[in-house]
Amino acid sequence: MEEMLLEHVVEEGKKIAALGKTATYIPELGRMNKDYLGVCICTGDGQCFKSGDADVRFTIQSISKVVSLAVALERCGFERTFDRVGMEPSGDSFDSLIKLDLTSDYPSNPMINSGAIAIASHLVSEVSFERMLKFTRKLCMDEEIKLDEKVYHSEMGHISRNKAIAYLLESKGILENSVEDSLNLYVQMCSLSVTAASLAGFGLVLACDGVNPITGERLLHSWVVQTVKTIMLTCGMYDGSGKFAVEVGVPSKSGVGGGILSVVDKRMGIGIFGPSLDRKGNSIGGQHVLQKLSAKLKLHMFADNVPEL
Ligand code: GLN
Repeated sequence: MEEMLLEHVVEEGKKIAALGKTATYIPELGRMNKDYLGVCICTGDGQCFKSGDADVRFTIQSISKVVSLAVALERCGFERTFDRVGMEPSGDSFDSLIKLDLTSDYPSNPMINSGAIAIASHLVSEVSFERMLKFTRKLCMDEEIKLDEKVYHSEMGHISRNKAIAYLLESKGILENSVEDSLNLYVQMCSLSVTAASLAGFGLVLACDGVNPITGERLLHSWVVQTVKTIMLTCGMYDGSGKFAVEVGVPSKSGVGGGILSVVDKRMGIGIFGPSLDRKGNSIGGQHVLQKLSAKLKLHMFADNVPEL
């Protein structure tokens, strides 16, 4: 792997990232140093390549929506999971409630806040937060993942918008548990502390069809992984998903903590940390790094001559 390439794209990305802002609507995230930028790539033979701030801890935020969707599919099955959550990109910001209120009876997809809060409400009766935490550690191959109490309390103290979404969901009969319990699990999952390296591990498991290639253990069913990767491709970068799919071309999921999880099918997992965000809530430096890596390493899912694992 071209370590020089990683160094180079991170250096470039750092310059561009200066244009963005951290997620100040959650005060604890607003305090994060926006100059951080790190990338980690893990390949199927167990090698990991890092550059920049790849071992700095930050909160997973919306990338946890991938874990929650996967667990909901495993536990509740396809029909029940998608009974009250759609599979269509919304084209709106991640915290929008406009379509949910005016034109639709259920959230557009599980990668936006309304959809993820609905999924969390399913999960409340199925699984404890502790089990979700343990499973996230396995998926990410990172036993150090824990709840970041500061970020959890900071978000819980500034939860008005997500409360509005949750009450709207309740009014439409979509929540299976109380607004409080659903939001609590949702925010706990968003507050898990990961690194770019943990996200690369998770990406690798998804690239390998749900199997940890180091231990050989299957963590998710094949059909679950296929469903999750498809939803990541179409909805994972919110209202930036279309452009990102054209420019980078790999299923990805962002979070306002600055993380991006990317899956290069049958080849590698990529984790990014860059807390300087664009107006859609996606890491600016991270998107730059992924665009450059995609072009140089032919990562786009429709690129020619792609070597397999
Ligand atoms: N916890 C954040 C919220 O609910 C997650 C949003 C995100 O990462 N886009 O607003």
